[in-house]
Amino acid sequence: MGLIVQKYGGSSLANAGKIRAVARRIAGVREAGNRVVAVVSAMGNATDELIALASQVSDAPTPREMDLLLSSGEVVSCTLTAMALRSLGCDAIALTGLQAGIQTDTLHGRARIERVEAGRVLRELEAGRVVVVAGFQGFTEEMDVTTLGRGGSDTSAVALAAALKAERCEVYTDVEGIYTADPRLVPDARKLDEVTYEEMLELAAYGAKMHPRSIELASVHGIPIYVASSFGGERGTLIHGDIPMMESRVKVTGVTHDRNVAKITLRGVPDRPGIAAALFEPLSEVGISVDTIVQNTSLNRFTDLSFTVSRADLRDAVERVRSVAGEMGAGEIATDQSLSKVSIVGVGMLNAPGYAAGMFRAMADASINIDMITTSEIRITCIIAESRVEDAVRALHKTFHLQEP
Ligand code: ASP
Ligand code: MG
Repeated sequence: MGLIVQKYGGSSLANAGKIRAVARRIAGVREAGNRVVAVVSAMGNATDELIALASQVSDAPTPREMDLLLSSGEVVSCTLTAMALRSLGCDAIALTGLQAGIQTDTLHGRARIERVEAGRVLRELEAGRVVVVAGFQGFTEEMDVTTLGRGGSDTSAVALAAALKAERCEVYTDVEGIYTADPRLVPDARKLDEVTYEEMLELAAYGAKMHPRSIELASVHGIPIYVASSFGGERGTLIHGDIPMMESRVKVTGVTHDRNVAKITLRGVPDRPGIAAALFEPLSEVGISVDTIVQNTSLNRFTDLSFTVSRADLRDAVERVRSVAGEMGAGEIATDQSLSKVSIVGVGMLNAPGYAAGMFRAMADASINIDMITTSEIRITCIIAESRVEDAVRALHKTFHLQEP
């Protein structure tokens, strides 16, 4: 009997009717003779609503209580899904992250899974039950509840798939797969049949809606992820490790964007060894990931240094930077939250010249100013004004002919 891990996103579980529909789908997979673990996200916007509630009672909610609060969203959806399955005559049990043995480190709000103690899940599967697991959460050695970061249920699902040696991991969402660009911005965006882990990692990290760590984990364990719509029967996108016919894919795979960008600029930084380490170590200590970094050539041994973080991390990051800026004799700190990222991604760009020039030409022709630029082997990213991000995505999709297969 095959073992399948399925993950259902919040929009697929937004109300009782949708939960019943998901339960019917799961029951169907079970009846076809598979063992099923279903990982669920919180219903609809439940997580956002809990965050809003917390902000109404406190300016600075404690991370520990915040995690315990947010974990309740997935407890609601997993229990309701299990109940709906039972009412269809399909034996099922709901487990929280703790009950499912998902052990994490202690970084509240962005915890990393360290181990999955899958004994309980396996026993329930053995007993013939569908196991419905609350995504997005785990627990520490101290038995405190942690969450894995926004969108973290994808990572819960892949971690379980790896621990259970599942045949595959299926992610069901409100879109039909991975597109060449956000179809809401680009009407002729095309659904991709397959992408490589590397491409998806870039696409996920730069705006397409999947938790980047789920892709990392899937790549390490060689677990294919099938992303499809929970509503329709259309074929989805397979994310996997093989690169079929790579030679023929000498093109950009997708254009992606991310509005969640905040820029911090530190002026008058003394230009001497050790400064960058002194600045970025305190950020990494608290788990803030820093993205695009630009340091200017120094003038009179002082330089400006800019970098980006996610908007959620801005406040903490500025606090940290302020505390070291004083010590190093740096000048003022400026922040900017009106920026966004737009990227082109594709394994076809490896060792192929001309893509950067093509991207910059497209931006120039659309009169879009580029604030910062970063690249990886298979990605080129421009930081631009948020007000121009939609124009940029459309221009790039057209420039690189992504509407054509
Ligand atoms: N409910 C959480 C969130 O909205 C986790 C998830 O959806 O995967 O971020
Ligand atoms: Mg969600």
